[in-house]
Amino acid sequence: MNRKLILKAYGKINLGLDVVRRLENGYHQVRMIMQSVELADTVTMRRLSEDRIVLKTDKPGLPCDERNLAYKAASLMKEQFSLPSGVEIMLEKRIPVAAGMAGGSADCAAVLKGMNELFGLGASFEELQKIGVKLGADVPYCLMGGCALSEGIGEVLTALPKPPACTLLLAKPNINVSTKYVYESLRLDELKRHPDIDGIVQSIETGDLERLCGKLENVLESVTGKEYPVIGKIEESMKEEGALQALMSGSGPTVFGIFREREDAERAMERVRKENPDAEVFFSGFHA
Ligand code: ATP
Repeated sequence: MNRKLILKAYGKINLGLDVVRRLENGYHQVRMIMQSVELADTVTMRRLSEDRIVLKTDKPGLPCDERNLAYKAASLMKEQFSLPSGVEIMLEKRIPVAAGMAGGSADCAAVLKGMNELFGLGASFEELQKIGVKLGADVPYCLMGGCALSEGIGEVLTALPKPPACTLLLAKPNINVSTKYVYESLRLDELKRHPDIDGIVQSIETGDLERLCGKLENVLESVTGKEYPVIGKIEESMKEEGALQALMSGSGPTVFGIFREREDAERAMERVRKENPDAEVFFSGFHA
């Protein structure tokens, strides 16, 4: 009865990110290529006999109340399914916060799945997606994971095959970027070009890593990259050490580099750490 459920909440990077237009409700219509990475938070959940939500985390400064997406997910599931008892959630954060890696959305998706399982609710994947999109545009993707084309505001998803294996280097400089600010500052009318999202899909389908790397692009770099030149500098360092490509993920500031050779990625890690002593730098890989 009082069993513990342990779930992995995987972070994501964007292999491509295009903003098609701004919608009247303030959301943006996007076309994004999402890819899960091995870097993950661990979410441990158990039922409580009392009717309350207890959230704990090992990340200092992260709110543990209704401001946390994991808390919001538990609260909404309790409401939707009229659950009379509560839940305890422990979040072990490994995905950098406010990084453009959807850490909050990943935790949110894990808690939606966890509530479904712990309370035996029997909600379908589609039902969880409908609940998830109320909590955040990236939540439906996080419920699915792997590689996907994400359209609409993020709720229209097409699964894609896993891209060819490579070594990923993730680097989050020590700056915090507000996703809302980045989207609001994007001047769509001033963009000279848009990423070739269909070309990225084709390269993934044919498994051509070099061609894929030649096409990676993120329109939000025109905002975050301009404000924080360190993003471009990290990309340059990774490329000089042999990355096939380096790009900012989401609204930033995390930069990922794609390497064919592990030794190149190791050299790049050393260099990025030396040049940015306060950055968080990790090896990772694509997660299916
Ligand atoms: P995205 O890629 O979807 O824009 P992100 O990586 O930029 O997400 P998150 O790490 O999800 O950003 O967090 C953004 C903000 O949300 C933070 O300021 C944080 O306080 C808040 N937040 C709420 N819940 C969580 C959570 N479970 N984990 C991390 N941040 C959370």
